[in-house]
Order: sequence, then structure tokens, then C-alpha cells
Amino acid sequence: MLQITCPWCGLRAESEFSYGGEADIARPSDSEALSDEAWGDYLFMRKNTKGVHKEQWLHASGCRRWFNAERDTVTYQFIRTYPVGASGSGDTHGAD
Ligand SMILES: [Zn+2]
Repeated sequence: MLQITCPWCGLRAESEFSYGGEADIARPSDSEALSDEAWGDYLFMRKNTKGVHKEQWLHASGCRRWFNAERDTVTYQFIRTYPVGASGSGDTHGAD
């Protein structure tokens, strides 16, 4: 069974979590000035990375907090998880 490490609760079953899409997508500061195409890109276009990818997860059946994870989209292995807003470096909570 795949397990995910919540930064607050520790290692738990994947069934307790919900996927929240790609992480670190910044809202444009002046959205009124964007073209329809640029706004559409912000809303809908994602990287679909093959390899290590940053994404958001919710511990839906646990602490109900969001966090970020680095995961390899080829092997499904979680490299590490960390609180939203924390830098991409630092503590390693990763496990598979
Ligand atoms: Zn949790």
C-alpha cells in the first residue's frame, strides 16, 4: 500500500489524502491586464511533468491541512513532503 507522510501526522495510508494539483502556481499580480489567452494559461495549463514534480495534497481524513509534496510521476514515489509556504528545501519527510 502506498503511504504518504503528512508533515504534522506522520506516515499514513494514501486513502486518507486527496490530490490538489500542481504546487507553486502564483496568481498573476495584475490579472486585469492579462490577455484572455494568458488568463486561460494561468487557469488551465499545467506542466504534466515526467519525473520529479511539486504538487499539493490535503490530509482529508486526518488533520485536514494542505501541504506540498515532491513526487516522481514515473515511479509514484514521494521524495518529501513539507508545509505550504515552507521553502522547497529543508527537512526531509519523504517516504513512499
Ligand atoms: Zn495530517
